[in-house]
Amino acid sequence: MKRLFALILCISAIALSSCVGDGAEPYYVYGSAMDTNVSICLYGGDKELGNACLELLYGMESELSVTVTGSKLYALNSGQTVKDTGHFFTLCGLASELRTLTGGAYNPCIYPLVKLWGFTADKCSVPNDEDIATGIELAKNSQISFTDEGIKIEGGGQADFGGIAKGYASDVLRDYLKSNGVEAAVVSLGGNIVTVGKKPDGSDWKIGINSPKGGGSLLGTLSVGECAVVTSGSYFRNFTEDGKLYHHIIDPETGMPADNGLVSVTVVADDAALADGLSTAFFVMGMEKALSIAQSLDVQTVFVTENQIFVSGGLKEKFTPDGTVEGEYEIIYN
Ligand code: AMP
Ligand code: MG
Repeated sequence: MKRLFALILCISAIALSSCVGDGAEPYYVYGSAMDTNVSICLYGGDKELGNACLELLYGMESELSVTVTGSKLYALNSGQTVKDTGHFFTLCGLASELRTLTGGAYNPCIYPLVKLWGFTADKCSVPNDEDIATGIELAKNSQISFTDEGIKIEGGGQADFGGIAKGYASDVLRDYLKSNGVEAAVVSLGGNIVTVGKKPDGSDWKIGINSPKGGGSLLGTLSVGECAVVTSGSYFRNFTEDGKLYHHIIDPETGMPADNGLVSVTVVADDAALADGLSTAFFVMGMEKALSIAQSLDVQTVFVTENQIFVSGGLKEKFTPDGTVEGEYEIIYN
């Protein structure tokens, strides 16, 4: 059910991006990778290129997945020192930089906590306080380190790239498409959307921001050129216990799902890996702290609470609220 819902959301974002009647027929590719639904809209591409994109994704998934037994991440988490100079190495570096940049709100060594909550195994339940305290310490005291022998984890913890890998993979796909001559495309991996160029008629893409309330409805659309639009939200992966909703974005300081009134955060940046890591971190740290980082990096944001939508200044002319949000949300430009 969750997957079907994600697929509908995914398709709605892509459908918004396609252009009808401009003389160019897009080619669509659909798949499933990195625990999410994938859709790729290619102008000037064909089945062969579409399938090559999926193969590229499957290859990255087999290296970066926390659950696939033969993955490089699995080896790292088993205490091995991993020699690599490819995607895994790059992602380890990016994840460590993001941890520093966000003061630890994004923490790649969060896996002991994520595992405790059961999100990767789809067997979710509220952990006990003692286990949470152990998980917090492990996440805090562990780090990915780069040595002459290779990459390893110090501190006894384990890494999880769930907060950044889809964005990173979207960037890789964009580079691949461009190097194959594609000038217009939209790649969507769950809440991660990356565009190549502009639409063939020279106009902006229209990227939908989904309503956290579900049902395939939108909060609004963003008109953008080539960029990444990445959303983190409590509505993506969650469960309810004793009437309370628990979601998958964990505050490393409390070991609990972040609870600061936000229901989704969208980041618009040049690169999807950065936007992906930041959207997760911003969801954890709350709007005030997040905005100061966003401004210093010149990335744009949309923060959503139960009844408010905060749109950053750089998106003022680009955001068009959906007609249905009137009366339900107050829209604030900050
Ligand atoms: P996203 O949907 O990009 O916000 O990523 C959420 C996923 O990232 C979760 O499902 C976890 O696998 C992982 N995660 C959760 N909390 C954190 C955190 N504080 N730092 C880094 N990764 C996290
Ligand atoms: Mg993320």
